[in-house]
Amino acid sequence: MTLVEQEAGPGRHATSQNAAMVRGLAGEDWIRPLSIEGQQFWNRGTSSLPLPRAAFRKTGSLLLASEEETAKKLQAWVLHAQHLGSPAEMWSAERCRMVVPCLRGSPLIAGAYSPDDGIADPLMLTEAFLKAMVREGGSLRLETKVEAILVERGKVRGVSLADGSKLEASALVLAAGAWSPGFLRSLGLSDRGIGVFRRHIHCSLVGADLLEKAPGFLWHLDLQAYVRVEGDGLLFSACDAEPCPPGLPQEDSSLLDRVSERLSSCFPFLQDLPISRFWAGLRTYRPDHRFLLGEDPEIQGLFHATALGGHGVTCAAPVGRITAEAVQAWHQDQERRGQKAFF
Ligand SMILES: Cc1cc2nc3c(=O)[nH]c(=O)nc-3n(C[C@H](O)[C@H](O)[C@H](O)COP(=O)(O)OP(=O)(O)OC[C@H]3O[C@@H](n4cnc5c(N)ncnc54)[C@H](O)[C@@H]3O)c2cc1C
Repeated sequence: MTLVEQEAGPGRHATSQNAAMVRGLAGEDWIRPLSIEGQQFWNRGTSSLPLPRAAFRKTGSLLLASEEETAKKLQAWVLHAQHLGSPAEMWSAERCRMVVPCLRGSPLIAGAYSPDDGIADPLMLTEAFLKAMVREGGSLRLETKVEAILVERGKVRGVSLADGSKLEASALVLAAGAWSPGFLRSLGLSDRGIGVFRRHIHCSLVGADLLEKAPGFLWHLDLQAYVRVEGDGLLFSACDAEPCPPGLPQEDSSLLDRVSERLSSCFPFLQDLPISRFWAGLRTYRPDHRFLLGEDPEIQGLFHATALGGHGVTCAAPVGRITAEAVQAWHQDQERRGQKAFF
């Protein structure tokens, strides 16, 4: 197996631009089995892939609702998560404010506490995945840009590279994040409605003490903003989403006023916090937010692991498991038919 990456190092795009929150209580029913599996992986690793200790800090999280409808949804998510083995629980507004006193001024009627959530180091996990791949005989090729996916008579044949060479393969996993929809269109396939959206993250150098003893991250679902501790300061986002082309997104400093306004309406304790730096990253998702995962129905040997939206860190392990199982099943089927598969 060969992993091909255009940059000089792995994880230089969405994987290092994110807020690194592992969130078991994801919003859509279909994703929760994956987000809980992902959360459990971050907490425990697996026997074949022990997680480096420093890769995850279990901190818990608190999702907040200020609308009746959202509180009901949260309740349903918690019940579903409990059914999947999560110790998540609902908190009243009083309990939220008692445990996290800085929420006193925030509009809220209920919260969902998820003790197994936490803060991840996505690059450390990426490194652990890559080391495991190399141990199993795979190889990593950095600074190797794929120009095109080669397909003949409906079957994957490999890729052509920017240096003019070719890599032969009968199976290919397209995990190109924001670049995936372009590859799909270049193959004459539907891009499945995948869109690429810029989101900003802001940080302060001070303020960590405000969240002392609070769960690791607070996320206001109705007012769409989140905050967590980052070093001695805080990291927060007003959950903006602007369509953007793939690449390194340009930050927009003109958003700062709007961001401060939004943040202070849901977390008034952030009102006077000086923003010391900010960056933007690209989230890639379909209109219904479903991941694009598994074997392509039109091109033999093509697999997808993309459109992970805002859940790619949480769900990294289950996405890898599902993709590996799909490729393995396909490989075994090829062997049964007497066709040679190569990667
Ligand atoms: C601001 C922000 C906050 C987020 N917060 C969270 C969070 O708190 N929790 C969470 O679970 N998720 C979060 N996410 C989502 C998460 O970061 C993504 O879902 C995940 O990183 C996507 O990983 P990926 O591998 O699909 O994409 P990427 O990390 O972008 O990787 C795609 C790779 O493909 C390579 N590539 C593309 N084209 C080519 C080519 N032609 N040849 C060779 N290589 C190529 C790129 O160089 C890149 O390295 C957030 C995302 C953003 C942007």
